[in-house]
Amino acid sequence: MATNGVLDARDRDATLGRLASERFDVLVIGGGITGAGAALDAASRGLRVALVETRDLASGTSSRSSKLIHGGLRYLEQFDFKLVYEALRERDLLVSKLAPHLVKPVSFLYPLYKKVVERPYVGAGLVLYDAMEGTHRPVPHHKHLSARGALKRAPALSPERLAGAMLYYDAQVDDARHTLTVARTAAAHSAVVATRVSAVGLLRGADGIRVTGARVRDEESGREVDVTAETVVVCAGVWTDLVHELAGVQAGYKVRMSKGVHIVVPRDAVQADTGMIVRTEKSVLFFIPWGERWIVGTTDTDFAGDRADPVATEEDIEYILSAANRVLARPLTRADVIAVYAGLRPLVVPSEGTGSKPTTKISREHVVDVPVPGLASVAGGKFTTYRLMARDVVDAAVADFSREVPASVTDQLPLLGADGLAAVQPAAGRLAEDYGVSRETVEHLLGRYGTLAEEVLKLTRTDPGLVRPLAPGHPYLRAEVAYAVTHENALHVEDVLARRTRLFIEAADSGTGVAAEVSSIMGRLLGWHRRRRTAETRRYLEFVAADQPAKTLDLPPVREAALAASAAGR
Ligand SMILES: Cc1cc2nc3c(=O)[nH]c(=O)nc-3n(C[C@H](O)[C@H](O)[C@H](O)COP(=O)(O)OP(=O)(O)OC[C@H]3O[C@@H](n4cnc5c(N)ncnc54)[C@H](O)[C@@H]3O)c2cc1C
Repeated sequence: MATNGVLDARDRDATLGRLASERFDVLVIGGGITGAGAALDAASRGLRVALVETRDLASGTSSRSSKLIHGGLRYLEQFDFKLVYEALRERDLLVSKLAPHLVKPVSFLYPLYKKVVERPYVGAGLVLYDAMEGTHRPVPHHKHLSARGALKRAPALSPERLAGAMLYYDAQVDDARHTLTVARTAAAHSAVVATRVSAVGLLRGADGIRVTGARVRDEESGREVDVTAETVVVCAGVWTDLVHELAGVQAGYKVRMSKGVHIVVPRDAVQADTGMIVRTEKSVLFFIPWGERWIVGTTDTDFAGDRADPVATEEDIEYILSAANRVLARPLTRADVIAVYAGLRPLVVPSEGTGSKPTTKISREHVVDVPVPGLASVAGGKFTTYRLMARDVVDAAVADFSREVPASVTDQLPLLGADGLAAVQPAAGRLAEDYGVSRETVEHLLGRYGTLAEEVLKLTRTDPGLVRPLAPGHPYLRAEVAYAVTHENALHVEDVLARRTRLFIEAADSGTGVAAEVSSIMGRLLGWHRRRRTAETRRYLEFVAADQPAKTLDLPPVREAALAASAAGR
């Protein structure tokens, strides 16, 4: 039965107790979008579900993507029609029914430089792209633009050689927030969701073969417990091979890691009222509108470093700047770059051979495997197709259950905050008046929490100070920090600044200037004394520093000010 889907960080001990004492049907390893999706898929089929995540929800690849919910125009060129077809249908389902508060249509301008060859080629691709959508069409059809029309929409483009453009539509999402919302919706269907808990070993049944759960370690205390489950589902992204190793099994596929870097620049650095996609030698480069900023990227290179901490290099940043500057009239410079982030694509390759294909050419389709009874795993795929990945891996996991398990229903299940949205949007004015905030603030909250927006505002009734903005020039309220603790399972400052809000990638100082304030709001709820608050602030500053050389921020003064503020108990 659906409950309210609250993930209260203060209930953590009770959650860990449930992991150790209950017997689950399905244990999901990994709290990225695929694991959150699998937990929701299984829980909404009436199964008892637990999910464990080593760090925070979406702390892996699922907070570091291009944040597009799209068919992927470039995959048509690789004849990956099935992937594009499925992804477009998922896009339309998310925009129209499952998550209209989070997944929003966005237009992309595709500049053309070779009039005779390019327009019919790209145009045919877009006719196919549009034709693959379902019948509801929540996003408009593509359009042809002349060079003049293109420059009107995007004056930032250099007119040199510009022959015209195509304008087409896809959708975008805050990937970390979407992942959290899927996990909360799973919790609303009774899933137990535990973060900072790692699977460190797999349990075997009396036959010594069947996997019957996992030994897990609480990363906060180091304590280990056994979680028993009829089946274990691995959704560990680029960590998948390591979990297979833990289980001592060889799956039918391996994961190859490909690093993708994005830069974030101010909105006024690129004059355009639409997103843009431009061709590069190896792939494409996106300019994605992101509030008052642009996200520009990405790269696609093999990676063999620390999975938990992929770092952008100066070379990555230079590559993006030079690819962008090939089409811009006013070049972007290093000084325009507010932030940089890197993520790792979990691409699947057969367990034997074909390691040499360029990563851009490896299919983004997903693969499900059951290497040993009681253990199913899924990898590859895209954020856009997470619901299908989740459905397929749960189908495989329950295939040998002795009782019948209902089919997936997630195509009919709006995520938390989506149900009743049509009635909340017109009430924005009333909410603004009732809580003494601006209409923009309410719109901001509706776009992040949907129908749950008032839950955030209600916190300001008991603590009026929470109605104040968290950081100057950014729309987040202090109440969102408190809500992150009481409803969204935020355990550390990093969880709030990097994923519940996105100041880590949106603020020039990565949010370090408000780290002490965040620590203080969290500390009041979580019972942190002064020394702990300083330690939590320091921990965030170290997290940001570890991202060097991606950041240009001047850390030492920021660090001293933030630590002094924490130590003063502010
Ligand atoms: C640069 C880039 C751009 C992208 N852009 C797009 C896009 O625009 N649109 C799109 O559709 N897709 C995009 N993708 C792909 C998409 O982001 C990924 O396919 C998706 O996020 C993968 O999610 P996941 O849950 O499989 O992996 P992850 O998000 O990495 O989740 C795996 C989780 O497992 C946890 N874990 C690992 N081991 C254990 C353990 N032993 N115990 C407990 N937990 C464990 C990890 O901590 C991690 O949180 C992009 C990817 C990249 C890198």
